Amino acid sequence: MILILLGPPGAGKGTQAKLLASKLQIPHISTGDMFRDHKARGTELGKTVDAIMSSGGLVPDDVTNAMVKDRLSRPDVAGGFILDGYPRTTAQAGFLDQVLVSMGRKLDRAVSYEIAQELLVDRMSGRRSCPTCGAVYHVTANPPRTAGACDREGAALVQRDDDKAETVARRLREYDSKTEPLKRYYHERGSLSEVAGTGAPDEVLAAALRVLGRAS
Ligand code: ADP
Ligand code: ADP
Repeated sequence: MILILLGPPGAGKGTQAKLLASKLQIPHISTGDMFRDHKARGTELGKTVDAIMSSGGLVPDDVTNAMVKDRLSRPDVAGGFILDGYPRTTAQAGFLDQVLVSMGRKLDRAVSYEIAQELLVDRMSGRRSCPTCGAVYHVTANPPRTAGACDREGAALVQRDDDKAETVARRLREYDSKTEPLKRYYHERGSLSEVAGTGAPDEVLAAALRVLGRAS
């Protein structure tokens, strides 16, 4: 199954992508995680995207598209995959269409997580992640067993620098102007399903599995 997860920053795409990947046994491909990994490793790409990400802007389409095309050339995507945070612009969506054609594959569904804007700021400001394993928590909605420490690794949890209040506002504006129009793009192609992003993560997962015809 080939899935795209759409939704504003903080909607729960990463959380849902991990749950879906485990349920459907297909890889979770997050462009945000890939960029953060490049930054952490200090690669040339990481240096290119660092300031853009910290300011809450979008990485240029050609840079992002090249990274995704390369990722989709790996053999583990043969049984399907979940794209989280890509595409984010209409140009990226058009590029992905071409890549899928060249692979002889077809998108199954673009799932859009719907959530009121007021809730997003709290979701982002409370988000903490493990620098070692990437596990994502929320200080109140999904806290670790010991405050500030990863359940699995024990490592001190960190806040993303782009989850600070000043950057969050820019990211929400970028979403509204550049990414939200993709809902129409996929709706016109008959591929869009909207799912409520509120409720507990397992309820959101169940709603997505229903629209995907995978309810158990
Ligand atoms: P969130 O999960 O909060 O929506 P992501 O982890 O997906 O955030 O993305 C973090 C940042 O990485 C974005 O603000 C942007 O700078 C960059 N980024 C991620 N995916 C893309 C993309 N498809 N196109 C351009 N920039 C991207
Ligand atoms: P995105 O990838 O769309 O930016 P995340 O999956 O990283 O979103 O979630 C943003 C924050 O909200 C995280 O702190 C996460 O733990 C929390 N979160 C995710 N899903 C839910 C939910 N259904 N209810 C409450 N909090 C949630």
